[in-house]
Amino acid sequence: MPPTPPSPKSGAPKSERPVLLPQKVSVVALADVCRATTLEFMNGAGGAWQKRELASWLAGPYRALTSLAQRQQRESERMINVLARVAVVRPVRLAAKSPEISERRIADLLASARAEVGATLEGLRDCDVGVGFVFDVLGAGLVQRCVDRDGEAGWVPLDLPRQRLADRVASLIAVDYLLRAEDYEQKLATCAACGLVSFEDDRHGARACPRNVSESGIPGPRVERVTAA
Ligand SMILES: [Zn+2]
Repeated sequence: MPPTPPSPKSGAPKSERPVLLPQKVSVVALADVCRATTLEFMNGAGGAWQKRELASWLAGPYRALTSLAQRQQRESERMINVLARVAVVRPVRLAAKSPEISERRIADLLASARAEVGATLEGLRDCDVGVGFVFDVLGAGLVQRCVDRDGEAGWVPLDLPRQRLADRVASLIAVDYLLRAEDYEQKLATCAACGLVSFEDDRHGARACPRNVSESGIPGPRVERVTAA
């Protein structure tokens, strides 16, 4: 039973216009990529990921998804700068150079973010918890409304300043969950042996490892994994 998410209008500022998705990018295709990108994080962070892999995830699929809303974001940032100048309020300056982050800290960051996202995913098996998740995500402004060229309404994830890693992943989950909550209740599977997370049509939430994935926890090719029954 999917929860009934609050109206898209409830969490967003009233002035916020929906992002118009590019040609050939449908609301559903976008949610598919958000789901795959979440699984890539969960299964990477639970396995062999280090600093370099996290950096390529952030600069690759994550940036591609969050860039959909960036044009509008840049415009609003420019507006804030204009307003700040008019009001003679100095915008907060970011540190010019961020200190080098050690591999150890990255490992801790990955482990804690993965644990937090894992708990979120577990919670979404329950639609009451799902309603709370939706309110949290909309309240924190982690997603923005979008519309595709067929007029279907959906959501895009936002890349916010100083956002926590777990919240970045949560924004991707939200895009997918707001469209297909029932998949999280019925198809989400976590392998008890290796922790691999997947969506499987025939499993109905049972914990089992997909056939094409080794016990090392390193996922197979994404396309095969998605279609495995
Ligand atoms: Zn397994």
